[in-house]
This record gives sequence, structure tokens and C-alpha cells, in this order.
Amino acid sequence: MRYRIVPVTRFRQNCSLLWCPDSLQAAVVDPGGDLDLIQAAIAEEGVAVEKILITHGHADHAGGAAELSQRLGVPIEGPHLDDTFLIEAMAKQAARTGLSEARGFTPSRWLDEGETVRIGQLNLAVLHCPGHTPGHIVFHHAASKMAVVGDVLFRGSIGRCDGPRGDHMQLVNAIRGKLWPLGSDTEFIPGHGDMSTFAWERASNAYVCDFVEY
Ligand SMILES: [Zn+2]
Ligand SMILES: [Zn+2]
Repeated sequence: MRYRIVPVTRFRQNCSLLWCPDSLQAAVVDPGGDLDLIQAAIAEEGVAVEKILITHGHADHAGGAAELSQRLGVPIEGPHLDDTFLIEAMAKQAARTGLSEARGFTPSRWLDEGETVRIGQLNLAVLHCPGHTPGHIVFHHAASKMAVVGDVLFRGSIGRCDGPRGDHMQLVNAIRGKLWPLGSDTEFIPGHGDMSTFAWERASNAYVCDFVEY
């Protein structure tokens, strides 16, 4: 799997363009805004976007999905159904965050644990990792040992859990119970900030390293 990260919105959210090197079919994960930047990256890489994938319903990740879906004529897949309340409240989120372009949508397909999404010849597994939001999902491409984790895990930190229906222990359990078993050599693209590996986080992340007990 090939990828390119395009930080978008004033929250510097890591929108990522993922593509299959054989077919050049691509997916845009979390187009929170700055759609012109995203479309410029698509054109530069010369890939054909076939779908939009959403990790969770926060405006900085999902706020541009409706508009990009319209512009490109492609479906939206994800997040998990439990983030419906956030997507329905997109206008309120937009007002609170200043992301005034953010719009709600109904995805073509809600995603759940154990399902697969295709990008060209690539199959990505879907993991349901609630805690930051109840319907947060993670995409994993086993063959390239890579995960796109949204606001579940960051380099040196984890997602905030003080929002509506956030749950700290649920998040910690999802990270340890679902992400770590994917393998320490897994590299991940977080929703904000630099990339990292599960090995690095297990050794040094103050919230979820192997030395922290709850
Ligand atoms: Zn978030
Ligand atoms: Zn975020």
C-alpha cells in the first residue's frame, strides 16, 4: 500500500490518501476540510479515488466528506453506526470548532469490527476501537504492516475521552486488546502529529506503555 499524508484544517488533521500500487485505485481517509489541497495531492500522485473512508464523526476528520463525495462522485464508507449522533450534529460541531464548511452525511456503508474495505487489489481490515468516540474505527493493512488509527492513538499520547460518550478505559482496552495484537512492527498514521510504531508506543507512551497499570 502506498500513502501520502495531507494535513488539513486548523487542527492539522492527517487526512491520508491510500492507494494500491498495481491499480492506482485510491481512498481518501478523513477529509476534514481543505479539499483543494486534497484534490491537488490526488492529481499529483495520478491516482483514481474510488471511495472516502471515515474513522470517526468529528468535524476535523469527517466535515469535508459530503462535499468531496459530491465533487469526486464517490461513496463514503464508515465510520461505525455509533457515531451517527456526531455526524448528525455536524452543524453544531462546525460552529464550535470554526470549521464552518463542515457538513453532515449518510455514508453508503457503515463499518463494523471484522469487516473489510477494498482499495483496488488491497484489503483493509476494520477494527472497532471506541473510547474517543463510540463509533471510532481503525483501518489495518496487514501486508504492509500499516494502520490508520485516527484519534485512537498518537505518538506519545492517546485520544481525548472527555467528549460526549467518551470512555478512557474503553480506549485503553481497545488499544491494548485490538491494536497491539496486530504486531509491534506495525507503523501507524495517527489523526494528528507524526507517525510512529506500536513498538515505540508500547515502550514509551505514558498512557498505554507496557509499564502502565490501570
Ligand atoms: Zn476526534
Ligand atoms: Zn482529530
